[in-house]
Amino acid sequence: MVIIKADDFENYYKILNDLGRDEFAAVKRVKELSSGIDYAAKFIGKKRGIVGKRGLKREEILREAEILSQLNHRNIITLRDVFENKHEIILVLELVGAEEEAVSFILKILESVHHMHEKKHIVHLDLKPENVMLLEKNKIHLKIIDFGISGQLKPNEPTKETFGTPEFVDGASPLLDNTNQETFANISQVDYRFDEEFFSHTKDFIQRLFIKNPKSGILGTTCGYGLYKYL
Ligand code: ADP
Ligand code: MG
Repeated sequence: MVIIKADDFENYYKILNDLGRDEFAAVKRVKELSSGIDYAAKFIGKKRGIVGKRGLKREEILREAEILSQLNHRNIITLRDVFENKHEIILVLELVGAEEEAVSFILKILESVHHMHEKKHIVHLDLKPENVMLLEKNKIHLKIIDFGISGQLKPNEPTKETFGTPEFVDGASPLLDNTNQETFANISQVDYRFDEEFFSHTKDFIQRLFIKNPKSGILGTTCGYGLYKYL
Protein backbone atom coordinates (compact mmCIF):
# COMPACT_ATOMS: atom_id res chain seq x y z
CA MET A 1 0.00 0.00 0.00
CA VAL A 2 1.24 3.45 -0.91
CA ILE A 3 0.91 6.13 1.74
CA ILE A 4 -0.54 9.28 0.21
CA LYS A 5 0.15 12.54 1.99
CA ALA A 6 -2.57 15.18 1.87
CA ASP A 7 -0.28 17.84 3.41
CA ASP A 8 0.99 20.75 1.39
CA PHE A 9 3.91 19.53 -0.78
CA GLU A 10 5.68 22.84 -0.40
CA ASN A 11 5.91 22.41 3.36
CA TYR A 12 8.36 19.57 2.67
CA TYR A 13 10.04 20.35 -0.63
CA LYS A 14 11.25 23.45 -2.43
CA ILE A 15 10.62 23.41 -6.20
CA LEU A 16 13.72 24.13 -8.30
CA ASN A 17 14.01 23.70 -12.11
CA ASP A 18 12.07 21.74 -14.76
CA LEU A 19 13.46 18.31 -15.73
CA GLY A 20 10.87 17.16 -18.26
CA ARG A 21 7.30 17.71 -19.26
CA ASP A 22 4.53 16.29 -21.41
CA GLU A 23 0.76 16.58 -21.72
CA PHE A 24 -0.21 15.48 -18.21
CA ALA A 25 3.01 15.36 -16.22
CA ALA A 26 5.67 17.89 -15.32
CA VAL A 27 8.86 16.60 -13.70
CA LYS A 28 10.79 19.09 -11.57
CA ARG A 29 13.91 19.04 -9.49
CA VAL A 30 12.95 19.63 -5.85
CA LYS A 31 14.92 19.95 -2.61
CA GLU A 32 13.76 18.25 0.56
CA LEU A 33 13.73 20.96 3.23
CA SER A 34 14.63 18.67 6.14
CA SER A 35 17.64 16.96 4.52
CA GLY A 36 18.74 19.31 1.71
CA ILE A 37 18.69 16.31 -0.66
CA ASP A 38 17.44 16.84 -4.24
CA TYR A 39 14.71 14.63 -5.75
CA ALA A 40 12.67 14.56 -8.94
CA ALA A 41 8.96 15.31 -8.40
CA LYS A 42 6.52 14.15 -11.06
CA PHE A 43 3.36 16.32 -10.94
CA ILE A 44 0.54 14.47 -12.66
CA GLY A 45 -2.74 16.30 -13.34
CA LYS A 46 -5.94 14.52 -12.28
CA LYS A 47 -8.87 14.33 -14.65
CA ARG A 48 -11.77 16.50 -13.45
CA GLY A 49 -14.93 14.44 -13.18
CA ILE A 50 -15.78 11.72 -15.69
CA VAL A 51 -16.07 14.03 -18.66
CA GLY A 52 -12.82 15.92 -18.14
CA LYS A 53 -10.55 15.82 -21.20
CA ARG A 54 -7.30 16.73 -19.50
CA GLY A 55 -5.38 14.77 -16.92
CA LEU A 56 -5.35 11.12 -15.94
CA LYS A 57 -7.74 9.12 -13.81
CA ARG A 58 -6.75 9.03 -10.16
CA GLU A 59 -6.44 5.24 -10.19
CA GLU A 60 -4.21 5.33 -13.28
CA ILE A 61 -1.82 7.68 -11.51
CA LEU A 62 -1.90 5.66 -8.33
CA ARG A 63 -1.14 2.48 -10.26
CA GLU A 64 2.25 3.96 -11.19
CA ALA A 65 2.88 4.71 -7.49
CA GLU A 66 1.64 1.29 -6.38
CA ILE A 67 3.87 -0.48 -8.89
CA LEU A 68 6.95 1.55 -8.04
CA SER A 69 6.42 0.96 -4.33
CA GLN A 70 6.64 -2.80 -4.90
CA LEU A 71 9.96 -2.66 -6.73
CA ASN A 72 13.31 -2.42 -5.07
CA HIS A 73 16.21 -2.92 -7.47
CA ARG A 74 19.39 -0.97 -8.03
CA ASN A 75 18.52 -0.30 -11.68
CA ILE A 76 14.93 0.80 -11.12
CA ILE A 77 13.91 4.27 -9.98
CA THR A 78 12.93 4.52 -6.28
CA LEU A 79 9.68 6.14 -5.12
CA ARG A 80 10.16 8.22 -1.96
CA ASP A 81 6.87 10.00 -1.34
CA VAL A 82 3.39 10.51 -2.76
CA PHE A 83 1.35 13.69 -2.25
CA GLU A 84 -2.17 14.44 -3.40
CA ASN A 85 -4.05 17.71 -3.64
CA LYS A 86 -7.24 18.75 -5.40
CA HIS A 87 -5.74 18.91 -8.89
CA GLU A 88 -2.74 16.62 -8.96
CA ILE A 89 -0.80 13.72 -7.55
CA ILE A 90 2.90 14.24 -6.96
CA LEU A 91 5.36 11.34 -7.06
CA VAL A 92 8.67 12.13 -5.39
CA LEU A 93 11.35 10.04 -7.06
CA GLU A 94 15.04 9.47 -6.65
CA LEU A 95 16.78 12.06 -8.84
CA VAL A 96 18.60 10.73 -11.85
CA GLY A 97 21.44 12.76 -13.30
CA ALA A 98 21.79 12.25 -17.00
CA GLU A 99 19.67 10.99 -19.89
CA GLU A 100 21.72 9.06 -22.42
CA GLU A 101 21.34 6.62 -25.21
CA ALA A 102 21.36 3.31 -23.39
CA VAL A 103 22.06 0.91 -26.21
CA SER A 104 25.26 -0.46 -24.66
CA PHE A 105 23.41 -1.11 -21.39
CA ILE A 106 20.97 -3.60 -22.83
CA LEU A 107 22.09 -6.33 -20.44
CA LYS A 108 21.29 -4.19 -17.40
CA ILE A 109 17.89 -3.44 -18.89
CA LEU A 110 17.30 -7.14 -19.42
CA GLU A 111 18.26 -7.88 -15.81
CA SER A 112 15.83 -5.24 -14.57
CA VAL A 113 13.04 -6.57 -16.77
CA HIS A 114 13.80 -10.08 -15.56
CA HIS A 115 13.49 -8.83 -11.97
CA MET A 116 10.08 -7.23 -12.65
CA HIS A 117 8.75 -10.28 -14.48
CA GLU A 118 10.11 -13.00 -12.27
CA LYS A 119 9.57 -11.49 -8.85
CA LYS A 120 6.35 -9.51 -9.27
CA HIS A 121 4.84 -10.34 -12.69
CA ILE A 122 5.09 -6.65 -13.47
CA VAL A 123 5.38 -5.62 -17.13
CA HIS A 124 6.76 -2.16 -17.88
CA LEU A 125 5.22 -1.81 -21.40
CA ASP A 126 6.97 1.47 -22.23
CA LEU A 127 10.66 0.62 -22.39
CA LYS A 128 12.46 3.04 -24.68
CA PRO A 129 15.64 5.13 -24.41
CA GLU A 130 13.92 8.17 -22.82
CA ASN A 131 12.67 5.95 -20.00
CA VAL A 132 16.13 4.59 -19.27
CA MET A 133 18.34 7.05 -17.46
CA LEU A 134 21.80 7.11 -15.95
CA LEU A 135 22.28 7.84 -12.27
CA GLU A 136 25.20 10.10 -13.14
CA LYS A 137 26.70 11.20 -16.42
CA ASN A 138 29.46 8.86 -17.65
CA LYS A 139 28.71 6.23 -15.00
CA ILE A 140 27.09 3.04 -16.14
CA HIS A 141 24.55 2.72 -13.34
CA LEU A 142 21.25 2.91 -15.17
CA LYS A 143 17.72 3.29 -13.83
CA ILE A 144 14.46 2.32 -15.44
CA ILE A 145 11.83 5.05 -14.96
CA ASP A 146 8.22 5.79 -15.97
CA PHE A 147 5.90 3.05 -14.80
CA GLY A 148 2.98 5.17 -16.08
CA ILE A 149 1.41 2.47 -18.25
CA SER A 150 2.90 -0.59 -16.63
CA GLY A 151 0.74 -3.38 -15.28
CA GLN A 152 0.80 -6.34 -12.97
CA LEU A 153 -0.24 -9.64 -14.51
CA LYS A 154 -1.94 -12.50 -12.76
CA PRO A 155 0.06 -15.67 -13.39
CA ASN A 156 -1.82 -18.16 -15.59
CA GLU A 157 -4.52 -15.65 -16.50
CA PRO A 158 -4.59 -14.31 -20.05
CA THR A 159 -4.24 -10.53 -20.37
CA LYS A 160 -5.25 -8.51 -23.41
CA GLU A 161 -4.16 -4.89 -23.61
CA THR A 162 -3.14 -2.47 -26.34
CA PHE A 163 -0.56 -0.15 -24.89
CA GLY A 164 2.61 1.57 -25.88
CA THR A 165 4.10 4.10 -28.26
CA PRO A 166 3.83 2.61 -31.76
CA GLU A 167 5.29 5.63 -33.48
CA PHE A 168 8.43 5.41 -31.38
CA VAL A 169 11.10 4.63 -33.91
CA ASP A 170 14.64 5.77 -34.53
CA GLY A 171 14.38 5.93 -38.28
CA ALA A 172 13.41 2.33 -38.92
CA SER A 173 11.22 -0.34 -37.40
CA PRO A 174 10.51 -3.87 -38.57
CA LEU A 175 6.91 -3.47 -37.33
CA LEU A 176 5.97 0.07 -38.34
CA ASP A 177 3.14 0.42 -40.86
CA ASN A 178 1.12 3.27 -42.34
CA THR A 179 -1.27 3.70 -39.41
CA ASN A 180 -1.12 2.99 -35.68
CA GLN A 181 -3.81 0.37 -36.16
CA GLU A 182 -1.80 -1.48 -38.81
CA THR A 183 1.32 -1.20 -36.64
CA PHE A 184 -0.55 -2.69 -33.67
CA ALA A 185 -1.82 -5.47 -35.95
CA ASN A 186 1.76 -6.20 -37.06
CA ILE A 187 2.84 -6.30 -33.41
CA SER A 188 0.12 -8.70 -32.30
CA GLN A 189 0.61 -10.94 -35.34
CA VAL A 190 4.41 -10.70 -35.08
CA ASP A 191 4.44 -9.66 -38.71
CA TYR A 192 7.77 -7.96 -39.36
CA ARG A 193 10.14 -7.10 -42.15
CA PHE A 194 13.81 -6.23 -41.77
CA ASP A 195 15.40 -3.60 -43.94
CA GLU A 196 18.94 -5.00 -44.39
CA GLU A 197 20.41 -1.51 -44.51
CA PHE A 198 19.45 -0.87 -40.87
CA PHE A 199 19.16 -4.31 -39.32
CA SER A 200 21.97 -6.48 -40.67
CA HIS A 201 23.81 -6.43 -37.29
CA THR A 202 20.79 -6.59 -34.97
CA LYS A 203 18.44 -8.85 -36.90
CA ASP A 204 19.32 -11.99 -34.97
CA PHE A 205 18.91 -10.32 -31.57
CA ILE A 206 15.61 -8.65 -32.46
CA GLN A 207 14.23 -11.83 -33.98
CA ARG A 208 14.82 -13.64 -30.70
CA LEU A 209 12.76 -11.02 -28.88
CA PHE A 210 9.79 -11.51 -31.18
CA ILE A 211 8.25 -14.51 -29.53
CA LYS A 212 4.54 -14.95 -29.74
CA ASN A 213 3.53 -17.03 -26.78
CA PRO A 214 -0.13 -18.01 -27.05
CA LYS A 215 0.09 -19.97 -23.80
CA SER A 216 0.69 -16.93 -21.63
CA GLY A 217 -1.10 -14.60 -24.04
CA ILE A 218 1.87 -12.29 -23.99
CA LEU A 219 3.67 -11.08 -27.03
CA GLY A 220 7.35 -10.52 -26.52
CA THR A 221 8.03 -7.44 -28.55
CA THR A 222 9.57 -4.62 -26.55
CA CYS A 223 9.12 -5.69 -22.97
CA GLY A 224 6.94 -8.73 -22.61
CA TYR A 225 8.16 -12.19 -21.82
CA GLY A 226 10.11 -12.28 -25.07
CA LEU A 227 12.94 -10.48 -23.34
CA TYR A 228 12.47 -12.67 -20.32
CA LYS A 229 12.94 -15.79 -22.44
CA TYR A 230 16.02 -14.36 -24.09
CA LEU A 231 17.89 -14.20 -20.77
P1 ADP B 1 5.87 10.63 -18.75
O1 ADP B 1 4.98 9.57 -18.23
O2 ADP B 1 5.21 11.96 -18.86
O3 ADP B 1 6.68 10.23 -19.98
P2 ADP B 1 8.34 10.31 -17.18
O4 ADP B 1 8.26 9.60 -15.87
O5 ADP B 1 8.97 9.60 -18.31
O6 ADP B 1 6.89 10.89 -17.53
O7 ADP B 1 9.12 11.72 -16.96
C1 ADP B 1 9.24 12.68 -18.03
C2 ADP B 1 10.70 13.13 -18.15
O8 ADP B 1 11.11 13.75 -16.89
C3 ADP B 1 11.72 12.00 -18.39
O9 ADP B 1 11.86 11.65 -19.76
C4 ADP B 1 13.00 12.62 -17.81
O10 ADP B 1 13.59 13.55 -18.72
C5 ADP B 1 12.47 13.43 -16.61
N1 ADP B 1 12.52 12.58 -15.37
C6 ADP B 1 11.58 11.67 -14.97
N2 ADP B 1 11.94 11.05 -13.81
C7 ADP B 1 13.11 11.59 -13.46
C8 ADP B 1 14.01 11.38 -12.34
N3 ADP B 1 13.71 10.50 -11.38
N4 ADP B 1 15.14 12.14 -12.29
C9 ADP B 1 15.41 13.03 -13.28
N5 ADP B 1 14.64 13.27 -14.35
C10 ADP B 1 13.49 12.56 -14.45
MG1 MG C 1 8.37 8.90 -20.27
